[in-house]
Amino acid sequence: MPKKTIVDAINAQINREFNASYLYLSMSAHFESQNLSGFARWFRLQHEEEVGHAMRLFDFLHVVGGSVTLQAVKKPTARWSSAKAVMQDALKHEKVVTKAVNDIYALAVKEKDYPAQVHFQWFVKEQVEEEKTLGGIIAKMNLAGDSGQALLLMDRELGARGN
Ligand code: MG
Repeated sequence: MPKKTIVDAINAQINREFNASYLYLSMSAHFESQNLSGFARWFRLQHEEEVGHAMRLFDFLHVVGGSVTLQAVKKPTARWSSAKAVMQDALKHEKVVTKAVNDIYALAVKEKDYPAQVHFQWFVKEQVEEEKTLGGIIAKMNLAGDSGQALLLMDRELGARGN
């Protein structure tokens, strides 16, 4: 059974992943209201991915004999000034998650909790990917500029996301 410090940290991370999922669902709703269905689809899939992250931790905690205690999900932001502002907000949020994941990994090392170390290696890698993906989208949007045409092109590209 994991130490209480580890159980508490994983429960807090489950909450962070659900907060992320709810924020991304709110971003999806925002884009739906703007008729940008590609962006909306991308964030809807991102929302599902974050629920998957939370459930990965939910399952892990049960496998190692810890207990899950769910916490309240934060009310997400509902409106943004531009599509780029949404992507920047998403990246900002992922950076907070990355720091939390790295801190839990460091805690697992300190507590000599090897199963948690192995489990969190996946999350460390995933966070590198998340930041790279969002950073790449923002860089493309910077290159494309603020025209309606550029936005529609980006919308088409993001709407092609497979899963
Ligand atoms: Mg996540």
